[in-house]
Amino acid sequence: MGNWKMNGLKAHLGEVETIGGIAADHREVDVGLCVPATLIAAAAQVRGGAFIGAQDCHANASGAHTGCLSGAMLAEAGASWTIVGHSERRQDQGESNSDVAAKALAAKAAGLNVILCVGESLDVRDAGDAEAVVSAQLLASLPDGAAADWLAIAYEPIWAIGTGRIPTMEAVDVMHRALRGALASRIGAEADGMRILYGGSMNGDNAAELMAIADVDGGLVGGASLTAGKFAPIIEAAD
Ligand code: 13P
Repeated sequence: MGNWKMNGLKAHLGEVETIGGIAADHREVDVGLCVPATLIAAAAQVRGGAFIGAQDCHANASGAHTGCLSGAMLAEAGASWTIVGHSERRQDQGESNSDVAAKALAAKAAGLNVILCVGESLDVRDAGDAEAVVSAQLLASLPDGAAADWLAIAYEPIWAIGTGRIPTMEAVDVMHRALRGALASRIGAEADGMRILYGGSMNGDNAAELMAIADVDGGLVGGASLTAGKFAPIIEAAD
């Protein structure tokens, strides 16, 4: 899944179209692009085999929330997915774990599939607490009724986002196992089928190795999803 963040104008819809064409050639892989809300409707027109997603969803269905977008609005525009709880929103907009759980539930109620993001800071990683902290963050952010047919998790170490640095493959393996275990403690066997994506400086060179890890079920890709040229090798690695 690509996350375009605050990047993309109509001039970039050609990339959506090209990626949609590549996605149509890789039907076994769920390929999606979470574009800025302003592009959802236009992207949905040219999406080909790719899903279109949003990057956030308000916890309320409607009301006095200037500048915000509800799940129904995003779905009507053409989104079938939304991200919630990205670390950039947790940081920039001060979203709490309970906010994130409420957003996930609201998105689900509007018929959207949800990618719920978690991840640790460098301080936490250096202190050796990453698995415990991120597992706790996940459980505190997990909505009621979490199920594999509408919810996916993205593990994104904050220090790996946009930096070109990634954890060792062993560290990713350990974290994803820990998160699967945390999910199982809450939702039992449903955890087995829930997708846990890795995000943070994923690119065409490291995607195959990352996605070969047993509990890594895909990627949430920022910079390398902005162009078809960079995203294509990641889609191919997932196939
Ligand atoms: P980069 O792939 O640019 O590191 O971004 C990862 C991310 O934050 C995706 O949500």
